[in-house]
Amino acid sequence: MSQKEIRLRIAPSPTGSLHLGTVRTAFYNYLFVKKNKGKFILRIEDTDQQRNKDEYTKEILEGFKWLKISFDEGPYFQSERFDLYKKFTNKLLSEGKAYHCFCTQEELDELRKIQRAAKVPEKYDNRHRNLTEEQKKSFIEQGRKSVIRFKLPDNVDIKWNDEIRGSVCVNTNDLGGDPVIMRADSVPLYNFAVVVDDGDMRISHVIRGDDHLHNTAKQIPLFEALGFSVPIFGHVPLIFTHDREKLSKRKHGDIANIDKYQREGFLPDALANYLVHMSWTRPDKPEAEIFKLDEIIDLFELGRISKSSAVYDLPKLYWFDNHYIKELSVEETYNLSKHFLEKDLNLSLYSKEQLFQMIGAIQSGLNKLDEISGLIKFFFDDKFDLNTGENKNTLSTENARRILEKILSSLEIINFSDPHDCKKTIDNIGKELGLKGKDLYWPIRVALSGSNKGPDLGLIISLLGKEKVKSRIEKAIAVLV
Ligand code: GLU
Repeated sequence: MSQKEIRLRIAPSPTGSLHLGTVRTAFYNYLFVKKNKGKFILRIEDTDQQRNKDEYTKEILEGFKWLKISFDEGPYFQSERFDLYKKFTNKLLSEGKAYHCFCTQEELDELRKIQRAAKVPEKYDNRHRNLTEEQKKSFIEQGRKSVIRFKLPDNVDIKWNDEIRGSVCVNTNDLGGDPVIMRADSVPLYNFAVVVDDGDMRISHVIRGDDHLHNTAKQIPLFEALGFSVPIFGHVPLIFTHDREKLSKRKHGDIANIDKYQREGFLPDALANYLVHMSWTRPDKPEAEIFKLDEIIDLFELGRISKSSAVYDLPKLYWFDNHYIKELSVEETYNLSKHFLEKDLNLSLYSKEQLFQMIGAIQSGLNKLDEISGLIKFFFDDKFDLNTGENKNTLSTENARRILEKILSSLEIINFSDPHDCKKTIDNIGKELGLKGKDLYWPIRVALSGSNKGPDLGLIISLLGKEKVKSRIEKAIAVLV
């Protein structure tokens, strides 16, 4: 007997931007597919005409591309498959596995109210499961519209062996009553469309967020009723914030959205590494945090995904991103950040070589590429504040004036073309004045760059050149009281 083909899918809904959790789940799917030489399918679940937006679909497609997640099939769009859902609904109806429910919203609200008052779980009571032809006729004559519901078996334990959570069991009585599979306007609902598609697309493994556990319990009887083989399931823990809230756009703004990371110049490899590592460690080196996806394909196992929820941790993501940025060459960093630099700075003030020197000097301090302009901005203008905070403290020392005046009078002996020489001259001046370390460097740094930290001082002096050094030192002296 031939082995069943490995076919997985990711199925985002374009009712919002591409979510970090969806991407993490996509990476787990992707790794499993690659390891097992299967096929990865992209399906856009766009049945909700009211909430769908084309721009979200575009963002989803671009987001996956940016993250280098490629697909073997798709994108398939559910909105183009309505005939199929209709066909399978009719099949279920004709086999007596689904039925028309004519309940009005008022009736359902009333039922819910009674259940709430009685403190019993709210659920549809399947009241229209066995309507007589007579009753149906009368509802139709009243002008009532009907939805179609699937007959869930009563009081049956739906069990499956989850690739991540182990054995799971949900009783059908806890699933809210017979689920609606098609609205009165013939729009299929999630639990139905997903089963038709997973069945039709011969999906072998469904790896998705563990917010779908109850849906899985509804879907398994649907797969069976439709005559499809039931896929293997794995439910990935969701991402929470430190205060134990599910990471969501509504509550946490755009940190939940991939496009924020794309916009701010995070590196896709860093994001991939961070997201996969959140709930998965290497079996061979569990302590290893840094890995590229290509390196772990053969090691990947769904069973090693942790069951406990993942925690979103921005400093940790910065740590990963900083690691990957440090691995870039200066030229790569420049190319990847060019749009930030061009937007923020007048690049024509310096040669490309000088620009590369600046970038090389600050690259290791970047958490994300959009920080780049801020770190080299002082080379381009002197719009920094010398009159407040640390800068003021540094410049108000007794020695600050001595050093700055001494440099001003030594400009002729500084060899601006060589950063080493520049630094040496400063050290010599320090010796003459009996100053070293921060007592010597900080006033100069503050005067030239507006900060006592930053790239090598010799490089700063050399790149700024004589004119800018002169005017900035003069300006700082004028600030001294
Ligand atoms: N469209 C569903 C979602 O975005 C897909 C869930 C699934 O993978 O079945 O949550």
